[in-house]
Amino acid sequence: MKGNWLLQRGIAQFIILNLLIAIAYAYGVRISHEFATLPGTVASVWFPSGMTLALVYLLGDRVILGIICGSTYALTLGLSNSIPSLSVFNLVLILMACACGNVLQPMIATYLIKRFARHKDIFSHVNTVVLYILAAVFAPTVSASFGITSLWVTGVIPWTSYVLSWMTWWLGSALPHLIFTPTLLLWQNFADTYKNKNIQDKYWEIGLGLSIFLGVSWIAFVSGYPLAYLFLPILIWTVFRYGSFFASLLVSIVSLIAILATAKNHGLYIPNEPNASLLLLQSFMAVLALTSLILSAVIDEKNAAQISLKQAMENLELQVIERTTELQHSESLLKQANLELEKLVNIDGLTQVGNRRCFDDRLKMEWGRLSRNAQPIALILFDIDYFKLYNDLYGHQMGDDCLTAIAQRVKQVISRPADLVARYGGEEFVIILPNTDIQGALIVAEQIRIAITNLGIVHQSSSISDIVTISLGVASLLPNSMQEPATLIKQADTALYRAKQQGRNQSVVFSDT
Ligand code: GH3
Ligand code: MG
Ligand code: MG
Repeated sequence: MKGNWLLQRGIAQFIILNLLIAIAYAYGVRISHEFATLPGTVASVWFPSGMTLALVYLLGDRVILGIICGSTYALTLGLSNSIPSLSVFNLVLILMACACGNVLQPMIATYLIKRFARHKDIFSHVNTVVLYILAAVFAPTVSASFGITSLWVTGVIPWTSYVLSWMTWWLGSALPHLIFTPTLLLWQNFADTYKNKNIQDKYWEIGLGLSIFLGVSWIAFVSGYPLAYLFLPILIWTVFRYGSFFASLLVSIVSLIAILATAKNHGLYIPNEPNASLLLLQSFMAVLALTSLILSAVIDEKNAAQISLKQAMENLELQVIERTTELQHSESLLKQANLELEKLVNIDGLTQVGNRRCFDDRLKMEWGRLSRNAQPIALILFDIDYFKLYNDLYGHQMGDDCLTAIAQRVKQVISRPADLVARYGGEEFVIILPNTDIQGALIVAEQIRIAITNLGIVHQSSSISDIVTISLGVASLLPNSMQEPATLIKQADTALYRAKQQGRNQSVVFSDT
């Protein structure tokens, strides 16, 4: 039921559309004849051609029936009025040939454009505009051949005027393709142009332009001064300021005025004989139309290129920002990784205090610095008493825990930022105390010894106590560049040896004796 209704509606729409087209076609034929500058049936500008190409291009073959009806009706009327002696057979022959030509013409042009155009908006690209022009100029050769041949065969025109009539038909059909069809096809762009260009704010500019335009029209077509080229700056200004639709509209209006004026024996192209004046008029309109079409396409392409360049720049900027952020992120990750690595390189894995390498580097650095400043440097070297026995009794795991606890406790005792606790090797640790003399170093050594004792780590197999104790060797000297840091280590080591010898669990200060 619903499908039936839709079908009926579709048919009704089809009939109305084609009826309107037929009426418009017939009306276009009447106007064309009215403006004919050559005597006879062939008009200088065949308005229906401009309309049929736009219709077929936009609506497809749905409009063919309307074109056939319009063409047949208008021609029947025209031919029976001008040549009453024409036989019915010949009339039908001409009507059929002309209907074929008038249908084939827009279909061929449309086919060529749609088949070869690489862009949808054909008037915005130079290559598609050139294609459009070629198709628009080529297609009328078909209709001209059909129409003029039928007129010749039926004896309406003699063989001698075949070529001239053919040329007039061809130009008369090609010109509206160039002048009026673009305006019809670009009509859809009008709203966009109107919005984008803020034409509302430019009334004074449009008014001024229109005045100049009317002035030039009057000078060229009414007064007949050869100043029609003044339309070119107006056209170029329109293309630049208002785009392809308005330029095309301007060309259409100028052409209409030119046709009207010439038909009424006014203006520029009249002093010549009819054929020449027709050619001059047609070439003037062709130049104007071609200039408008190609210039509009060039400007559109330029604008499109500008927009895409701007977009590319914006994208590039975004990408640069993205990449910079990524780079900053990786940089911070790298910094973190480097810090971790530095830590791994300088820290003892078990006890988490400095390692031997860290100690060597720091001692060398402080040695240089303090020898320049003539400041003392002190070293405490300490060793856990009877640690082998501790390991033997409690196992290596407990031994490791004990080492870690002692190292961490010493780290807490050491207060100055410049001081360093490091594992010297095995169960021996070393503390660097910059800017510290022997008295100060001894105080720190005793603080460490007491702190370890206070940890109270049970050590049953120790010979001197039942908890873990340490022995410490303390040395301090004024470094100079002639001496090696090893001197200080040796002194501390000697002191430690003495502490062991003197009974362990004590701090001994190095002395030469
Ligand atoms: P002294 O009182 O004379 O210093 O005797 P000691 O047993 O402490 O000295 P010795 O040099 O004879 O033994 C040191 C022991 O320290 C040997 C080894 O088992 C232990 N040791 C060294 N490094 C580590 C370690 O990383 N972990 C553990 N658990 N034990 C270690
Ligand atoms: Mg030892
Ligand atoms: Mg020991």
